Amino acid sequence: MPRKIVAGNWKMNGTKAALKELLTISIAADDLDCTAILCPPATLLQQAAQSTRSVAIGGQNCHHGVTGAYTGDISAEMLADINAQYVIVGHSERRKNYAETDVIVQAKALAALRAGITPIICIGESLAQRESGQAISIVSSQLAASLPAEAQIVIAYEPIWAIGTGIVPNLEQITGMHDALRKLLVGTYGTQGNYISILYGGSVKPSNAQEIFAVTNVNGALVGGASLKATDFIPIMQALSES
Ligand code: PEP
Repeated sequence: MPRKIVAGNWKMNGTKAALKELLTISIAADDLDCTAILCPPATLLQQAAQSTRSVAIGGQNCHHGVTGAYTGDISAEMLADINAQYVIVGHSERRKNYAETDVIVQAKALAALRAGITPIICIGESLAQRESGQAISIVSSQLAASLPAEAQIVIAYEPIWAIGTGIVPNLEQITGMHDALRKLLVGTYGTQGNYISILYGGSVKPSNAQEIFAVTNVNGALVGGASLKATDFIPIMQALSES
């Protein structure tokens, strides 16, 4: 079975005061049967990594290079240096706002593996692509072009129209996409593809987590807004642990 994983993406939210949420989450994570990951902003990564062992820490992005003249960027090696174990690559906000292509996302995934950390590779379709019936073929191509050769990865399917909107695809849509992605992973990596965790992301909340986690080939969630408060994130972790 793939590992059950719930990852929280804090995006550009949180100052030092927010670390108390992380501490509350880490106490709850101790007793649960799933891997909990938090991806705070870069300014909090080191303190976050030092303050918890039951929650893994991840970056929200990395550069594909090791070092160099890349103002404002952080390499995967720098993330590994402060004990981050994961990094999100190819989030739709980065694909859109920073023109990150599949080629760039794949280079970042390779960089993460080079540094010994696990990339969480995000893919997802727009509303127009969903409505034109092309969601599965577009997301499959996106994933195929973003994959590294090694299978030590996590996938997050995040329909763009579900991120931060409160709208969630129906269970049939989630099932169809996750089954197709599993097939693609097995086609690419052989039996190892069966062990890669495929997370669903987009408006996951305590109220819908249980039904989403019951879907075959949904192995957890990438959570934005509901990861900022321990009172929202803990019930999502619990739902995954009990699934
Ligand atoms: C995200 O941005 O990855 C995300 C899933 O956000 P939200 O949970 O707020 O929809």
